[in-house]
Amino acid sequence: MRDADPFAEPEAYASLRREATALCAAVEPMADEADEAETLHAGMAAALRESGLARATVPAAYGGRSESVDPRAVTTVREVLMGTSAHLDSLFGMQGVGSHALGVAGSPELREQWLPRVAALEALAALALTEPGTGSDLRNVSTTIRDVGDRLVVDGVKAFITNAGAAAFYTVLGREGDEYSLVLVPADADGLRVVSGPSLIAPHILGEVRLGAVEVDASHRIGPPGAGFKLALATLAVFRVSVAGAAVGLAAAALEEATRHAMTREQFGAPLAKLGGVSQLLARSWVDVEAARAITYRAAAAARVDPEGALHLSSIAKVAATEAAGEVVDRCVQVMGRFGLVRGSKIERLYRNARPMRIYEGSTEVILDSLARRLQREVTGRGS
Ligand SMILES: Cc1cc2nc3c(=O)[nH]c(=O)nc-3n(C[C@H](O)[C@H](O)[C@H](O)COP(=O)(O)OP(=O)(O)OC[C@H]3O[C@@H](n4cnc5c(N)ncnc54)[C@H](O)[C@@H]3O)c2cc1C
Repeated sequence: MRDADPFAEPEAYASLRREATALCAAVEPMADEADEAETLHAGMAAALRESGLARATVPAAYGGRSESVDPRAVTTVREVLMGTSAHLDSLFGMQGVGSHALGVAGSPELREQWLPRVAALEALAALALTEPGTGSDLRNVSTTIRDVGDRLVVDGVKAFITNAGAAAFYTVLGREGDEYSLVLVPADADGLRVVSGPSLIAPHILGEVRLGAVEVDASHRIGPPGAGFKLALATLAVFRVSVAGAAVGLAAAALEEATRHAMTREQFGAPLAKLGGVSQLLARSWVDVEAARAITYRAAAAARVDPEGALHLSSIAKVAATEAAGEVVDRCVQVMGRFGLVRGSKIERLYRNARPMRIYEGSTEVILDSLARRLQREVTGRGS
């Protein structure tokens, strides 16, 4: 008897994939509309809530699906969701990204208060790191957190925050003295104001979160003072690979669209797919999708066991898959000719949705920079 395929998808993930696929089949008719939305799309949110899939983004003790959040499960779900709707994918992913630090290091009361609602998609989560003047270089943040006895006072402006205006709370990074801390700020805190926008080429729930002397109880600091970057890293370590999963799903969906088109449209007396140049574009894209999928699930399996130990693999997967998705979707538009450019067509939507993935949660260049340093250390035992 032959050995079982060691790369076959274990049944637990295959069954999660089926659940996500069923959700996508149900929401496909509203995907176009949701992906144009800059505020919460109620139908999409209700369908995700109903599916129970958001439970994969929090620990079991608070209504989640596994003891600790499983990066492979999140990756699998995002691969499926992103092939249908970026709005849906973002709603799902942000529940984890916005609440992970809380699940790891929040006070028991704060976890009890929020995480079951995050799992049930009754409260949307958000992570507020970026500022108008600070993107990749997060040590430059100017938001401050001041400890005044049993209260914390938060001042600053956070920009480009996903779920701004829709979230029930924001996990905010700020300077606390000479260190950096995370603090949970409920959306209804006095002094918190959201200004929507800007509008992106791929519409997104996005806004600026202005914090003017916002006061919260000292128990709202997540972890001890100074743990901000450690907790942000812990979040990346679990969720970065899931961006790769989303990119694989988007690329595969684009390839399916283009392949169908190329098999049905005829030019020069034959389907496009029979014309050499076109078939090369499709096959080349298939190679890229499968290569990206392989490294993504390699990284996700490693991240499941040791997220921080596998961060370099998650980073490699994020770069490989998001860059591949950009190239694949571009080729797919080419295969579809003028039809690939029509506003409102699925391929055009995928083309726009692919672009931000190379920028958020660590831009390609910033990740390559840190990978280069690690590579040098591994090869020579030296380096910064
Ligand atoms: C759709 C979307 C959603 C977002 N949601 C959130 C959110 O929920 N919360 C949040 O906090 N932020 C969010 N962001 C912001 C995102 O995290 C930042 O865009 C990202 O960190 C990059 O920062 P920046 O755009 O300011 O680019 P910059 O940091 O200004 O970088 C510009 C360019 O310079 C390159 N670069 C920068 N530093 C280096 C370096 N050291 N070496 C080589 N190249 C470098 C970058 O790769 C990039 O190409 C979101 C962004 C988008 C597009």
